[in-house]
Amino acid sequence: VKEGGRNGIAFFNEAMAEQAKNQLVLEAELHKALSADQYELFYQAKVDVQTGMLTGAEALLRWKHPERGYVSPGIFISVLESSGMIIEVGQWILEEACRSLQKWQALGVWNDDMHLSINISPRQFRRSDFVDEVKKTLMDIPVHRGTLDIEITESVVIGNIEETISTMEELALEGISFSLDDFGTGYSSISYLKRLPVSTLKIDQSFIRDLGEDRSDKVLVESMSSMGRLLGLKVVAEGVEEQEQLELIRDFGCDEYQGYFFSRPIPADQFYKLLHENSLK
Ligand code: C2E
Ligand code: CA
Ligand code: CA
Ligand code: CA
Repeated sequence: VKEGGRNGIAFFNEAMAEQAKNQLVLEAELHKALSADQYELFYQAKVDVQTGMLTGAEALLRWKHPERGYVSPGIFISVLESSGMIIEVGQWILEEACRSLQKWQALGVWNDDMHLSINISPRQFRRSDFVDEVKKTLMDIPVHRGTLDIEITESVVIGNIEETISTMEELALEGISFSLDDFGTGYSSISYLKRLPVSTLKIDQSFIRDLGEDRSDKVLVESMSSMGRLLGLKVVAEGVEEQEQLELIRDFGCDEYQGYFFSRPIPADQFYKLLHENSLK
C-alpha cells in the first residue's frame, strides 16, 4: 500500500512537472510570437437582425503558428493572462484594431454608425495606465469618434466597481462605447448591468445554442432582450448558427447578431470584401 502510494505521488508529481514544463514552453512560444509577428486579428461580422446589413465587427485574436496554423485563443489566452503577457499583446490588439478601422474608414466602407469591438482582458483594463495607453493610441491612430467599442465581462469588476465605472467614464470621453459580454453567465450580471455605463448587452452563446429545442432558453433569451430594451440598451445575440435561431431572436426583439450563420471570424482582407459588398447594398 505504501509503495503504491509513493508511486502514486511520484506519478502525480511527474504529471505536474510535465504540465509545468508544457506551460513554460507555451509561454516562451507566445512571447516569441509577438516579435515574430505571429499574432493576427480576425473579424467577425455583427449584423442587423431586421435588415441583414453589417453593423460592425468583433476583433478576435489568432496565433498564426508556423506549423500548427491558426490557433484559437481558447488554448492560449489564459496563459497570456496568467503570465502578464496579455498587457503587451492587448496593447498590440488595440493598435492593430485601430489600424484596420482607420483603413476601412478611409476607404469609405465603414459608416460612422458602425462599431468595431475589441475584447479587453480584466487584467489590462484594471491597470492604472490603461486610460492613458488608450488615449495615446487614439492620438497615434485616430479613428472616427464613436466607432470603437470595448467588450468587457463582469469579471472586470472584481473588488472595485467604483474604479471600473470611473475608468469607463474616462474612456467614454474619448468616444468609446462598452458592451457587456457573455451576459447571463456570471453571478451578478443584472446588478452590473444596472450600474455599469454600457450601451450594449451581448447574450452569451450558451443560451442560443439550443434555442430551437429548449423551452427555458427561449424564456431566458426573450427576458434578457426585453430587459435590455427597457434599459435602453442594444441587444446582441452571439453564436447564431441556424436560420431558426435567427428567427427566434428576431421574434424576441434582439437588435443584432453574430454567428457562423452569417460569417465565421475571418482575416482582415476577407473581412474587407464583406465590408465592400455591404457598402454597395
Ligand atoms: P468571446 O469574446 O465570447 O468571443 C466569441 C467566441 O465565439 C469566438 O471564439 C468566436 O469565434 C466564437 N463564435 C462566434 N460565432 C460562433 C458560432 O456561431 N458558433 C460557435 N460555436 N462559436 C462562435 P474565439 O475567437 O475562439 O475566442 C474565444 C474567447 O477568447 C473569446 O470569447 C474571448 O473571451 C477570448 N478572446 C478572443 N480574442 C480576444 C482578444 O483579442 N483579447 C482578449 N482579451 N480575449 C480574446
Ligand atoms: Ca467578446
Ligand atoms: Ca461573448
Ligand atoms: Ca465567451
